[in-house]
Amino acid sequence: MSPIWLRGLIAPLAVAVIALTAWPLAGAVAALAVFGAGMLGVAAWHLIQLDALTRWAGTALEKAVPEGRGTWAIAYAALYRRLRLRSARQRDLRLALDRFVSGAEALPEGVVVLDGANRIQWANPRAQAHLGIELRHDAGAPIVNLVRQPAFVQYLANGDFSEPVVVESQRETGMTLSIQIVPFGMEEKLLMSRDITRLEAVARLRRDFIANVSHELKTPLTVLTGFLETLADMPLEERQRQRYLALMAEQAQNMQRLVDDLLTLSALESEHRVLLEAEFAIVPLLLQISADAKALSAGRHEITLNIRDQANVLGSRDEFASAFGNLVSNAVRYTPDGGHIALDWRVTADGAEFSVADTGIGIAAEHISRLTERFYRVDRSRSRATGGTGLGLAIVKHVLIRHQAELVVDSAPAQGSRFTVRLPARRVKVVTDAEAGPAASSTVPTNTASLR
Ligand code: ADP
Repeated sequence: MSPIWLRGLIAPLAVAVIALTAWPLAGAVAALAVFGAGMLGVAAWHLIQLDALTRWAGTALEKAVPEGRGTWAIAYAALYRRLRLRSARQRDLRLALDRFVSGAEALPEGVVVLDGANRIQWANPRAQAHLGIELRHDAGAPIVNLVRQPAFVQYLANGDFSEPVVVESQRETGMTLSIQIVPFGMEEKLLMSRDITRLEAVARLRRDFIANVSHELKTPLTVLTGFLETLADMPLEERQRQRYLALMAEQAQNMQRLVDDLLTLSALESEHRVLLEAEFAIVPLLLQISADAKALSAGRHEITLNIRDQANVLGSRDEFASAFGNLVSNAVRYTPDGGHIALDWRVTADGAEFSVADTGIGIAAEHISRLTERFYRVDRSRSRATGGTGLGLAIVKHVLIRHQAELVVDSAPAQGSRFTVRLPARRVKVVTDAEAGPAASSTVPTNTASLR
């Protein structure tokens, strides 16, 4: 028998004992009256306790459980334990829910919970940034009131959510969003938005690049094919045949240069290519660059090399040769005959500078920030006519990035340009004449370079 039964029987038993004791003394009627009155008292007491319980049950949930007396104390204690267990479970659930909500709020993707009628039930802050949803005002509003792009409205109406839909953000110009709906529960839906602006830009860059390369290769190929057909079909004089062959060789060279530059660029961009950190003397490299420039110019320009300081540079000699070579070749190609090209090397307080200044055609300000983009040219036909691939400054940019160096461009139309490469101090080691070795000082021709 449970303790509540034992304790519950005490009062009725006590009444029965009193009534039985009264029987021989006061007679059966009096004993019965005592028993009846006693039991009524017991019942009334239980009713009072029941009333207290009923009143407590009608109050707010957090109101403490009443104490109770006698058998009721046992029942109240059991009730109290049960309520405590339940509130502990509720607390756990609330904590789990809070964790889930803060996780969903921290997601880099926008999340919106929609009901069966596509009304907003909940949204995280990212959804606010992407779609302009402010939960305080927009809870309960149809999603199409806020996301009104026709492609999205159509997507929602179609009901085929196997793929995301790509739309332009209405909130931020230039932002591209990928929105995917995932149905869940009975009729609810989860809307997820992702900012794919960068991905889109990369995809666009890749598309443009392929289109550009194809176009660049197509032009010389068309010319070559034309000449080939002419040579095959028509009887030509020897002089004309030689001229055609020379033109064909020129086109083939253009293609070769383009392919070489593409390979250089792709090697520089490759994440696996480790930078060769070797120390090399800058002077012999500058002399070689200057000699190459003169060969390219073929006496059409005055080219000077001014080496103000001896130094060794830490990095890839080949890559620097390619970057400096591109700057110098540009100066030659974009400077009319008779112009002056000055190559200048100096050690500075922050590292070192190599500059190529020309008195050439110059560049208008609006083009300067885009010059290092692949295939960006101010004047396409002029670039092509001088054998340009449109990749030279892109190569320069990549070499410099790999060496934590920067390119500064000063230019004005018809006044000339100055391209300056700034090397950081940690890549430059100033050396004495003796350390620099014989190649550094002895081979500088006095008419083209000054070495202080
Ligand atoms: P390209 O092969 O066309 O020369 P680059 O990437 O080397 O390609 O240069 C990009 C563009 O920058 C050139 O097409 C040209 O318009 C401009 N540019 C580069 N260097 C010079 C310069 N020294 N003077 C004038 N314009 C220049």
